[in-house]
Amino acid sequence: MSPSSFGTVATRDEDGWRLTGHKRFIINAPIADFACVLCTMDGALTMVVVDMKQEGVLTPAPDRKMGMHGCLTGDILFEGARVPAGNVVWQPGKGLRIALGALTRGRIAVGGSGVGMAQAALDESVSHMKNRKMFGKTLAEMQYWQFRIAERATEISMARDLCYKAALRHDAGEEFPEPETAMAKYYGTQVAGDMARDAVQIFGGYGFMSRLGADDTTYRVEQIYREAKGPEIYEGTNEIQKWMIARQIFGR
Ligand SMILES: Cc1cc2nc3c(=O)[nH]c(=O)nc-3n(C[C@H](O)[C@H](O)[C@H](O)COP(=O)(O)OP(=O)(O)OC[C@H]3O[C@@H](n4cnc5c(N)ncnc54)[C@H](O)[C@@H]3O)c2cc1C
Repeated sequence: MSPSSFGTVATRDEDGWRLTGHKRFIINAPIADFACVLCTMDGALTMVVVDMKQEGVLTPAPDRKMGMHGCLTGDILFEGARVPAGNVVWQPGKGLRIALGALTRGRIAVGGSGVGMAQAALDESVSHMKNRKMFGKTLAEMQYWQFRIAERATEISMARDLCYKAALRHDAGEEFPEPETAMAKYYGTQVAGDMARDAVQIFGGYGFMSRLGADDTTYRVEQIYREAKGPEIYEGTNEIQKWMIARQIFGR
């Protein structure tokens, strides 16, 4: 069992349920008042609402991460936490459906965040390329980088369109608009990572800096480079997105 999928089980108690298990990398875990928790209840995957400020719920210190420093993540340990019978969401056995619904909206949004990061890295790069001169000409005049920027601009445009397509289908009432949701998530976040890596390279030594000691000048591409990695992993890794696309092509 992977470290982020320890089993979480609800067992019957006189007026509800008791929860035992372990969740990892949970956003806002250290500060949450309530959590929606997917667990096994009488053998069926079920979503329950858990009061996080009770005995039997433990939240260790927050994780230290490569990026996303404005957002806390951490483990949750359930050691007999109480779940009143009324805290079952929808009905027992509907947990996976609820989780997949949230993941669908989440994946479109994460794809969109990738497009935003990629566009920001491209804008920073274009501005730098127009101003940075070496060997008598600007970086913007060098065909190698012109072509690279043309490729990335095309990819960002395609990723943006995929996000809009998935979102429009979802808004029109489709519960699971596939394969576009998986495509939007995987491609939107991949282009963010690719563009961020190019942006750091285009900035040269400055790309590796967040702030210059000499005059306090700040640079953004270092941060975008770090922030672009997480979205390739969370909300379902990009390999899992490709597996979902392949299932649409080859069948289950
Ligand atoms: C910043 C952050 C925030 C998070 N927030 C939350 C949260 O709020 N709630 C929550 O529930 N989870 C959260 N997660 C967990 C996240 O969803 C998982 O980390 C992610 O799904 C990957 O699972 P894993 O870490 O166990 O990696 P693993 O499942 O161990 O995967 C390791 C590698 O193996 C690859 N792999 C796995 N299966 C296959 C396959 N069949 N074919 C090819 N490659 C494969 C994966 O793609 C990955 O590259 C968060 C993670 C991070 C980093």
